[in-house]
Amino acid sequence: MKLCIHTDLEGVAGVHSFHQQTYADGRYHDAAKRLLTAEVNAAVEGALVAGATEILVNDSHGPGGMHYESLHHEARILQGGPRPPFPRLAELLREYDTACLIGQHAMEGVADGTLHHTQSSLNVEYYALNGEQIGEIAQVALLMGVIGVPLIYLTGDEAACREARETVPGIATTAVKRGLTRTCAISVSMTKAHELIRAGMREAIEKHRRKPVAPLTRRGPYRVEIRFRTSDLAEAKERTGWARVDAKTVARESPELLEVLFG
Ligand SMILES: [Zn+2]
Repeated sequence: MKLCIHTDLEGVAGVHSFHQQTYADGRYHDAAKRLLTAEVNAAVEGALVAGATEILVNDSHGPGGMHYESLHHEARILQGGPRPPFPRLAELLREYDTACLIGQHAMEGVADGTLHHTQSSLNVEYYALNGEQIGEIAQVALLMGVIGVPLIYLTGDEAACREARETVPGIATTAVKRGLTRTCAISVSMTKAHELIRAGMREAIEKHRRKPVAPLTRRGPYRVEIRFRTSDLAEAKERTGWARVDAKTVARESPELLEVLFG
């Protein structure tokens, strides 16, 4: 059983600040990367116990969120960017049987979601696919869904877990913190988070074996609409071929989901 672990930084226990922890120049960014890596390693341990034979970690937080030196001995890691064009990346990811997301946050605008945002914490007001506002959880689930790989497990704050369950029927989740405001949360202890994730990942794989989670799909054609916080951002997007909807909003249509999925 081959597992692909996608990662993000904002949904990790103990992480609650963009400026100090998740931005690359944050004072405690390196410490936050170690927290994420330890949570990923707990997931790796749970997956190995459940019979995973190959594990790839996709370091998918914008500037990179993994601390390479601390990575679990049995995992490999995909880092750096820009990533290859999707057809080539898909060839690589297609060989995995299942996927999970560790350290995930809720979409922009979710009041109880710690560090909630969609793609850019500064620039994006909403991201909508065929009229439905979605966040990074649906984006990752759909990306893997296109190549037939189901997203079976997610960890993050309670709001991210709720969003995952609403998005992907049958997904297993582990909440490691509860958001009080966008930059304030109650986290479990670090060691408790690891214990929960180790068990949660193992149970998610075992549950998936008994009752498989389906890869997430949406019927085409696809229309993505992105609303930015300021009009200059929409102008810049318009120059790359997106249609202007209004001052701060752009849209793009395609029969191919992957052409529009990540904006
Ligand atoms: Zn993110």
